[in-house]
Amino acid sequence: MPGRREQNTPRVASSLASAISASPDVRNGGHASADAWPIGVDLREERLFRALDDDNDQAVRLRDFERVFAEVGLKSHDKRLHDSLGLLKHRIETARQVTDEITLKISRTDFYQAIRHNILLIERAVQGRMVIPDFQGFANELERIFEQVRQNKAGAPADYIPQLNLQGAAADSFGMALCSIDGQRLSLGDAKEFFSVQSTSKPISYCIALEEHGAETVHRFVGREPSGAGFNEIALDKADRPHNPMINAGAIMTCALIGLGDKETLSPGSHDGLADARGWSGRRFDNVMKRWAKLCGNDLPRFSTSVFLSERETADRNYALAYFMREKNAFPNNVDIHDVLEFYMQCCAIELNCELMSIVAATLANGGICPVTGERVFRTETVRNCLSLMSSCGMYDFSGEFAFTIGLPAKSGVSGAVMVVVPNVAGFCIWSPRLDELGNSVRGIDFCQRLVNAFNFHSLDDLSWHSSKKDPRMNPIQVKARQVNELIWAASKGDLGAIQSQLQRDVDAACADYDLRTPLHLAAAEDQRHVVQFFIDEATHQGRNLDLNPKDRWGGTPLDDAYLQGHASLIELLEKAGAIRGDGTYGNSDDAAGAKAQALLDSPKTDELIWAASLGDIVAVRRLAAQGIPLETADYDYRTALHLAAAEGHLEVVCYIIAHGVPVNPTDRWGNTPLNDAIRHGHDEVAEVLRTHGGACREEETSMMRAKTDPAEARMAAER
Ligand code: GLN
Repeated sequence: MPGRREQNTPRVASSLASAISASPDVRNGGHASADAWPIGVDLREERLFRALDDDNDQAVRLRDFERVFAEVGLKSHDKRLHDSLGLLKHRIETARQVTDEITLKISRTDFYQAIRHNILLIERAVQGRMVIPDFQGFANELERIFEQVRQNKAGAPADYIPQLNLQGAAADSFGMALCSIDGQRLSLGDAKEFFSVQSTSKPISYCIALEEHGAETVHRFVGREPSGAGFNEIALDKADRPHNPMINAGAIMTCALIGLGDKETLSPGSHDGLADARGWSGRRFDNVMKRWAKLCGNDLPRFSTSVFLSERETADRNYALAYFMREKNAFPNNVDIHDVLEFYMQCCAIELNCELMSIVAATLANGGICPVTGERVFRTETVRNCLSLMSSCGMYDFSGEFAFTIGLPAKSGVSGAVMVVVPNVAGFCIWSPRLDELGNSVRGIDFCQRLVNAFNFHSLDDLSWHSSKKDPRMNPIQVKARQVNELIWAASKGDLGAIQSQLQRDVDAACADYDLRTPLHLAAAEDQRHVVQFFIDEATHQGRNLDLNPKDRWGGTPLDDAYLQGHASLIELLEKAGAIRGDGTYGNSDDAAGAKAQALLDSPKTDELIWAASLGDIVAVRRLAAQGIPLETADYDYRTALHLAAAEGHLEVVCYIIAHGVPVNPTDRWGNTPLNDAIRHGHDEVAEVLRTHGGACREEETSMMRAKTDPAEARMAAER
């Protein structure tokens, strides 16, 4: 890969480049020692400010600040952010009256004030440390899945409750919403349309009963085994209890338990306020609604009178179930089954939309604490019990299949709602009224299936980032850094055990980093004889296709590395195995000796930073800067983020790094500075920016030499 020549025509620096402030007092940016920072400043707040102050002009653009929240999936109406953003908007409005320029910017003092009362959430947003870090990427995938599922027109709305039997376009309604445990939100399709919750009320009623009576008492009246039968089957277990709380009989039973304690202590007809038994059913329903509101992040659920009436008129099966259970003495004392049935049907007629239902699911995913209010709604043990039963019994007589193929706690309802919980990650709600013959939403199941095919959300999926499924808990750059750079590091350090364990997890031995450097290059460069031998064995092993002569960015092979570093016995070993030289034009590593030693080596965040720079991912670079990762750190070849941003021509990233006070002339293993990279790859604008800020290079590409290319000379050098 011959180096490209620098063009002679001078270029005008872009406005982006000229916007970089490089006054000497701020040259250390956010990444120098604390004593270079303004006095009296909170370092944590200052770090965020500097990470967002792209061009180091001591102000943060409001647009950039707001974009941070959009990027992580926090909505501008998020109650938690409301105060902080409101305060800023107010200040900006005031400033707007004075001057135009300032309308776009937030001063340091205003920034501090705005973030102070919300520092933890804002810090995590700016640092990209949300449970789903690459929220945009995840959202794009979900949209793709959603559109595929939309094509599925199978099934029909429930018809045994007349009000649920939607016709025409209404039958094809389709919505999806997601809320993560950090309150990251996504809504698709008809996510704002209200529908009755039906059986998705069952887990909530079960939780309320658990909170009131404890698991032991509740399970004296209802079992916890899948029934293997339809949701409204007239059947009890061997102890004459309903099989579980997720089917009709069980939910009628948990409804019978809710508020029962209060009722027993009330005296009928007494008139002294709260102790009055009259109005007890109303208060019980109010309490349930209050609980739902808390689960929804203090938003109000609705109630559908027509669905309630419609169901009551056609509830023969549920009446039959209740009479059957009464005949078997299954209810606690003092239960009026007509009252209980009405209450059960009222719970089914509560109305939510996908957006609210996803917050309910997220509250369960978050162990009972609502992610958007931070308020505890249920105890952790309550939620654990509920999720266990949703996992084994939540999808009617499809529960076993669902647990096997999808592996997530979920609950469906005959209105077409499916509530899915990914514990410790997020809650989903999918709503589409067409049902299959078991009563589950066809599109709901289809969506879940595609979701776990794409992401490692099945509770038994491999969580070690090596399965072919994506892990939304990691951003793609993290995954790359963990797989590729860790293996290369291990090779450069001679850690054969780590290499073997990575390979067993299906990491590719031929993987290459942003400079196309491979484990074998580094093993050769660092004279790791047993690692080189291991890779030679791999290459000659039948069925494995490991190339002994991969070429890096400079055209060099592992054998070139061995020559360049003068490792004579490695050269022999590699040549015997058939390795050949490339046409690597690296420069002269001797020139680099002094500067290289100063490079700060850090891992694995360094690897992420360099990948981000090489991909031009300014959002990721900013997030790492906000985490306090020094922008000048170098990898195993002493390559830095600035080298890679320059090599790939990412001007915005180059400007950001320079504005943050990073030295512009770090040298890599071969003595190349970022300017060398920019020139070699013909990125004139980047080269000019680097020169403007003191960029120098070992030598221009015109005189680039092939270092120690003569094998004889290399051998002699090694012997000396
Ligand atoms: N209200 C419905 C019923 O009792 C709930 C059933 C369901 O959603 N599976 O029949």
